Amino acid sequence: MPLVFCPNCSNALTIARADSTNTHPMGVNRFECRTCPYEWALENKWYDRVNVKEKEVEQALGGKDEWKNADSIGTQCPNEGCNGERAYFYQLQIRSADEPMTTFLRCTTCATQWREN
Ligand SMILES: [Zn+2]
Ligand SMILES: [Zn+2]
Repeated sequence: MPLVFCPNCSNALTIARADSTNTHPMGVNRFECRTCPYEWALENKWYDRVNVKEKEVEQALGGKDEWKNADSIGTQCPNEGCNGERAYFYQLQIRSADEPMTTFLRCTTCATQWREN
């Protein structure tokens, strides 16, 4: 998974699972900063659905709205004709809860989408 950095103090964020609530019975994954109070909850409507079909998720992520609020990270675009070095990214739990989350990325330059486990 990509490293994400705190916008306040630039330290690497760690991923943590928040306590479960009524709306998120499985808990919500979030990034936390170890040195300042910054945290970023990875909330989305797919997260609570246990058996989301991977295709469904990919189609859903093709919509503009889903990417509008996504954060971006520095990464190399896999498209050979593109020199893009930034991509929006999204992490979803699309397999069982004890498997690692899947990271969906979308180049900010050419909009190529790909994913990393
Ligand atoms: Zn911080
Ligand atoms: Zn690109």
